[in-house]
Amino acid sequence: MAEIRPQARIALIDALEIGQGTSGRNAGFLIDVPHNVDGGQPDAEYERQLFALNNLAIGQLRSLKERYRIDCGWHDAGKYMSAHEEGNLARLECFADALKAAGFEYEVVEGQALSRRLGTSYYKAAVYTPGNVLVKPGGPGSRSGRCATGIRHAVHGEPGSGLRLRASPYPEVPGRHLAR
Ligand SMILES: Cc1cc2nc3c(=O)[nH]c(=O)nc-3n(C[C@H](O)[C@H](O)[C@H](O)COP(=O)(O)OP(=O)(O)OC[C@H]3O[C@@H](n4cnc5c(N)ncnc54)[C@H](O)[C@@H]3O)c2cc1C
Repeated sequence: MAEIRPQARIALIDALEIGQGTSGRNAGFLIDVPHNVDGGQPDAEYERQLFALNNLAIGQLRSLKERYRIDCGWHDAGKYMSAHEEGNLARLECFADALKAAGFEYEVVEGQALSRRLGTSYYKAAVYTPGNVLVKPGGPGSRSGRCATGIRHAVHGEPGSGLRLRASPYPEVPGRHLAR
């Protein structure tokens, strides 16, 4: 919204503090390839469409991060889908088969070579895909990120409660908070 309407005053209303919910506390993987390993019949065309969508989102975040210098610990790390238990090695093979069918880049890494890369001998095999990005999950939605993109009001309050205004606790966000 801030991109499309740079002059707009935008209010974010959430029952939690911004960054306190799942999006601010998740594992921080911006995945490119879908990572289902349920052994179901792979649908290569569907996987390619999801890949394109995921890459569109990663590209948009990359451009926002660079344009506004958002500190989110961006790391083009790729991703290891790893297995320790024998039973999961077969699922890993299914995953590799699905990647191959869809034409995605991947590498199977096993044994000593895998230990050297991961720094642990716990996992027996892994499938590495290079396009995943790791970020600090709170980073892209952080206060600096919101300020940079022109969002001026951060407000929150509990759903369905009687709301009243109080001053923003964030000096760099000159808005007001809604609270009980
Ligand atoms: C442990 C864990 C790890 C994860 N790791 C990853 C990962 O590495 N990569 C990845 O892509 N995804 C990951 N996910 C999934 C990802 O975090 C969610 O898909 C994503 O947060 C969903 O975003 P959302 O905006 O739809 O919902 P949410 O992030 O849940 O946001 C919904 C917001 O709505 C607010 N809200 C709800 N009801 C009301 C109301 N009535 N009034 C006011 N506010 C309300 C909530 O407070 C919340 O802040 C992970 C999830 C979990 C649980």
